[in-house]
Amino acid sequence: CGIVGYVGHRSALDVVLGGLRRLEYRGYDSAGVALPDGGELLVERKAGALANLEARLEEIGRDRFTGTSGIGHTRWATHGPPTDRNAHPHRSSDGRVAVVHNGIIENFLELRAELEARGIWAESDTDTETAAHLVALAHADGPTKGDLPASVRAVARRLEGAFTLVVTHADEPERIVAARRNSPLVLGIGEGETFLASDVAAFIEFTRDAVELGQDQVVTITRDGYDVTDFHGEPVGVNPFEVTWDL
Ligand code: GLU
Repeated sequence: CGIVGYVGHRSALDVVLGGLRRLEYRGYDSAGVALPDGGELLVERKAGALANLEARLEEIGRDRFTGTSGIGHTRWATHGPPTDRNAHPHRSSDGRVAVVHNGIIENFLELRAELEARGIWAESDTDTETAAHLVALAHADGPTKGDLPASVRAVARRLEGAFTLVVTHADEPERIVAARRNSPLVLGIGEGETFLASDVAAFIEFTRDAVELGQDQVVTITRDGYDVTDFHGEPVGVNPFEVTWDL
């Protein structure tokens, strides 16, 4: 339901949680974050209010989360009850890829069956989890091996329905990749930091320079900027705008 992503120079945990807080008005039933850190992904998810996730983070120690990139999500369950296990981010079996998703992947049963045939079993009831496994497979081998944006594009081409999909990889703390179809996604362009969110409210305390992602586009953000293509990797023009209203 609410999505936040950040690559920059601040504490990604602080930025992502602050952004999710700003998106609370959208309503949600669970929340979670994923941060690449020292070659691993730190992932925490909790059913219920954002306060539950924050309490869990306090418990394990917020200072463990030193990373400056990360993603976060507040969920409005469509597939599977609002439990810890179904909360986003969802990870691939090897733990290398984490995704958050707004919307519905209509063909997820078919994709899940394909994954099961390869010996990959779902850990959650969500439609979203299939995307995490598919990106990990695309990144591990084949024509898109080692290329996160190309892996996300290859998977986006296979997904039917509505999605804003945001992906982080344990090996790539310096960039986040997102794909969009029939669901909103906005970028915030700062100095040495880049934001992405389902709504500008998540980042306007930091920057008012924004870019709305178009239909069927994939964006890669780094702290120095962004790169947008269609689902086939062709560069596309973007329309930057300035957020002139206040919250
Ligand atoms: N369909 C996904 C789920 O049920 C995403 C829901 C959302 O947009 O928050 O987990």
